[in-house]
Amino acid sequence: MTELRSIYEDMGLTQEELAILTRPRRIVTATFPVTLKNGRIRMFLGHRVLYNDARGPAKGGIRFHPDLTVEDVSELAFLMALKCAVVNIPFGGSKGGVKVNPAELDSHELEQVTRAYIRAVADDIGPYKDIPAPDVYTDERTMAWILDEYERIMRRHQPAVVTGKPPALGGIEARRYSTALGGVHVLEEAMKERGLTPKGARAAVQGFGNVGENMARLLHERGCRVVAVSDVNGGTANPSGLDIEALRRHKAGSGTVAGFSGGKRISNEELLAVDCEILVPAALSNQLHAGNAKEVKASIVLELANGPTTVDADDMFYARDIMVVPDILANAGGVVVSYFEWVQNLSNDFWPEEKVLKRLHRTMTTAFSDVHARCRGGKCRLRKAAYELGVRRILDAERLRGNL
Ligand code: NAD
Repeated sequence: MTELRSIYEDMGLTQEELAILTRPRRIVTATFPVTLKNGRIRMFLGHRVLYNDARGPAKGGIRFHPDLTVEDVSELAFLMALKCAVVNIPFGGSKGGVKVNPAELDSHELEQVTRAYIRAVADDIGPYKDIPAPDVYTDERTMAWILDEYERIMRRHQPAVVTGKPPALGGIEARRYSTALGGVHVLEEAMKERGLTPKGARAAVQGFGNVGENMARLLHERGCRVVAVSDVNGGTANPSGLDIEALRRHKAGSGTVAGFSGGKRISNEELLAVDCEILVPAALSNQLHAGNAKEVKASIVLELANGPTTVDADDMFYARDIMVVPDILANAGGVVVSYFEWVQNLSNDFWPEEKVLKRLHRTMTTAFSDVHARCRGGKCRLRKAAYELGVRRILDAERLRGNL
């Protein structure tokens, strides 16, 4: 958030504007009992933060994590508000979660925790209020429980209350890879600015989960040489390009990309320093920091993970003319397709996949060009431009509502 303060100063915001941006509109905190399979009753703590809804109903995921704090949830809710504003979809920003270690519970217990959490926040969510989605350690199955519990409480069907649902319950198939695909669309625009094309370019991808694996596949399909990938157990590199399909099979069998016979074993630190044009952090936050930023050889960093670059590393990349495509732009493809899911559910109309993909492409490329247009001078700092654009759009909506 340090960078935000300096962005606010550069933008010359008024006290009233700062007051609106620096505080969430609503924080709901609830404790609720759940009976575990050993017969004991345990109290759980959950939060739902609606940060800003000037542009439309709030949108944001639900996270299950043992270290969850309301401050983290609030910061993530604000980033959702900015992200939705940057890609210009009519949503505000929110986030929620339960302080729980999902690894300690079985599926039935997790279902009970999810349902109890939804009963606690049911008055504060809804298709026109605040729409949850998956986040860390929650998935399609969790969204199905949320839908069912909410509809039981409301005593009617309300599929638009939550997105990221299984397709059989009104979800969208393409949501499963839309974060990576949105990233590819933005990357192609960024590459044009650098005189590059995916065909023949070299990429390294950190993280081989939902986002990283799909990204590697999509880049490979576009003729890009994916020269290195990694996961929590280590990485694999091949300067001639990894065979992504074979790598997917290797991971499906062993649970990791490490030890793949079609590449040389590398560490996560080595992955970040690999010779390539495109570096895609798609794992955790704070992976690129002052200690390793000088080793990065890529000319474009595409932030598919949330917050993978520290402020110091960001400054170093800027000084070295490395283009950083910031998370709130690069990984917005997921929330864009969530928006399409919400529209479909509200109108009870299901779009063909081509329409979903075409609109995702248009939304992401327009967002890139809106952000890029705000870069002044020869050198471009896309993060600052994206934050400024998001903040301006939120404040414009507040002004039109008479709140400023
Ligand atoms: P995931 O859990 O499916 O995959 C995470 C991957 O990161 C795994 O391959 C894991 O092994 C790897 N990893 C964990 N620790 C690592 C480490 N120390 N070094 C290298 N790799 C490590 O998660 P995901 O859904 O793919 O999300 C990845 C990132 O993208 C997260 O930062 C998430 O917040 C962000 N994101 C995801 C979505 C989405 O739609 N899934 C949307 C926006 C942002």
